[in-house]
Amino acid sequence: MAKINRRDGFNLLSKLTFRRTWNGVKVLASYHLSRWTKKPIQWGVPISVSFEPTTSCNLRCPECPSGLRAFTRPTGMLEKDFFRETINELYKDLWYLVFYFQGEPYLNPSFLDMVQYATKKKDIYCHIHQCTLPDR
Ligand code: SF4
Repeated sequence: MAKINRRDGFNLLSKLTFRRTWNGVKVLASYHLSRWTKKPIQWGVPISVSFEPTTSCNLRCPECPSGLRAFTRPTGMLEKDFFRETINELYKDLWYLVFYFQGEPYLNPSFLDMVQYATKKKDIYCHIHQCTLPDR
């Protein structure tokens, strides 16, 4: 079972607003109602979003599409403006952001600006996953 980090838990809870909590209640209720009725019911909007700051990486792990340079999509960096526009649309309902899919997030030169924008300007809890640190 996953260990819960108490500090992270308090940090996440400190970002909750009535609107975010109500959205989470709607999502949870629609999930259970869908299971119970065996019909798809969807209330609320997603409580979290995962951003991929970059598809690039400076390592070559053999199990990873980024490491193998095997993406079917182009290697590139998430645009800061696109990130801000998306956050502006979603932040009122979001509980948290995840900054990772594949690739090393810190290779995006705008990465820390994006984290700062989400945490300081929009008061969203951010989870950052990184595989490694960039070569300097
Ligand atoms: S993104 Fe992570 S898993 Fe993939 S090559 Fe880079 S360090 Fe390895």
